[in-house]
Amino acid sequence: MDFTLPEDVRAAQAMFRDFVKNEVEPIADKMDKEEYFPHDVLQKAAELGMLGVPFPEEYGGTGLGMLGYCVMNEELAYSSPAFGTIVGAHVGIAAKSIHVGGTPEQKEKYLKPMSEGKLLGAFALTEPTAGSDAAGIKTTAKRTDGGFLLNGSKIWITNGGVADVYVVYANLLPSDNDRGGVTAFIVEKSFPGFKLGAIEHHMGIRGSSTAELFFEDCEVPEENLLGNPGMGFAYAMKTLDGGRLGLGAGCVGMAQRCMHMSQDFAKQRVQFGQPIIKQQAIQFKLADMATQIEAARLMVYQAAWMDDNGMRITKHSAMVKLFCSQMCNQVAYDAVQVHGGMGYMTDYPVERFYRDARITEIYEGTSEIQKVVIAMQLQRERR
Ligand SMILES: Cc1cc2nc3c(=O)[nH]c(=O)nc-3n(C[C@H](O)[C@H](O)[C@H](O)COP(=O)(O)OP(=O)(O)OC[C@H]3O[C@@H](n4cnc5c(N)ncnc54)[C@H](O)[C@@H]3O)c2cc1C
Repeated sequence: MDFTLPEDVRAAQAMFRDFVKNEVEPIADKMDKEEYFPHDVLQKAAELGMLGVPFPEEYGGTGLGMLGYCVMNEELAYSSPAFGTIVGAHVGIAAKSIHVGGTPEQKEKYLKPMSEGKLLGAFALTEPTAGSDAAGIKTTAKRTDGGFLLNGSKIWITNGGVADVYVVYANLLPSDNDRGGVTAFIVEKSFPGFKLGAIEHHMGIRGSSTAELFFEDCEVPEENLLGNPGMGFAYAMKTLDGGRLGLGAGCVGMAQRCMHMSQDFAKQRVQFGQPIIKQQAIQFKLADMATQIEAARLMVYQAAWMDDNGMRITKHSAMVKLFCSQMCNQVAYDAVQVHGGMGYMTDYPVERFYRDARITEIYEGTSEIQKVVIAMQLQRERR
């Protein structure tokens, strides 16, 4: 077994780190305080190939696979979990849906420009009455001459309002041609009947845009049916396997940053005549953080390696998402504690990370749902 990163991924990691330090870090606080959406920096990321990292070169990607994608997410979230969320929604679930289910023509028309940063994407599954129970979506698609009409709504869609292309999951009504079932569609923002609703404001990852979408007889041409009818749920679940893994990697980055901030603060904060890092209570917190981060990172890299080697990762990615998100919330909590009152002040980024960490146990399936997925997979393995 070799636990070192491959040469090309290591070189990319150095490049991501440099980019994050020079481009993302300077705007991370502004994104949080002003809910600023970083169009320019996203374009710079695209120029470096960062929006196509996991995809093959023929579709504008870098061919660095899931391992490269996870390493990138770690670096992005080290500075701005909000920036990581924008990239994660675009690459990890929107473009990924097209990679998973798209025809060669759809990959050429949408995945390639998405990888190159010419189109920004969003993944639209959640509805007001269908969150954890994603199969219960009510948005419908009705076949017409030459296409489909979509009706319904979506909520809390990351990159909503800024995206050019939405991968929308809807229930295809049965007809003479189709058995129906959840089906995915590639919807451009200019399609008639597509309407943007409210932009939400949230506790953390505040630079990422989260919006409501409406489809009122939204006209989708035949060629924008993603892959095959009735396969949408399978595409969504396969996509989320990758998305959850990337998200876990972001949690590792966030936790790493919280630990570094805690170490630096504890070295310079003096109480009772000595830096607080001399207190065993503080040292133990740092030791626990480091141990948890190391375990989480290994889980991420193992699952990424499995994915890159063609293995199924449904159980592993759910385990990664569950463990890494809980770990990162605990580390962020302890990091605030190490900072004392300073940790509660908005002047210190640790307060932002504490808020940003909270979403990781909710989106792309809550911690409870990850346990449901893991338990289901365990039962399948026993049969
Ligand atoms: C900031 C943000 C960004 C988002 N981005 C996107 C996006 O880009 N695209 C998209 O499609 N969606 C997105 N979502 C939606 C997100 O994926 C859902 O919020 C999430 O899946 C949970 O659904 P829910 O909020 O409806 O919670 P609910 O399903 O109502 O769950 C509420 C509580 O009940 C628990 N629960 C529900 N069912 C079970 C069960 N069977 N067993 C045990 N516990 C259960 C849940 O774990 C949770 O604790 C986003 C959400 C947020 C907040």
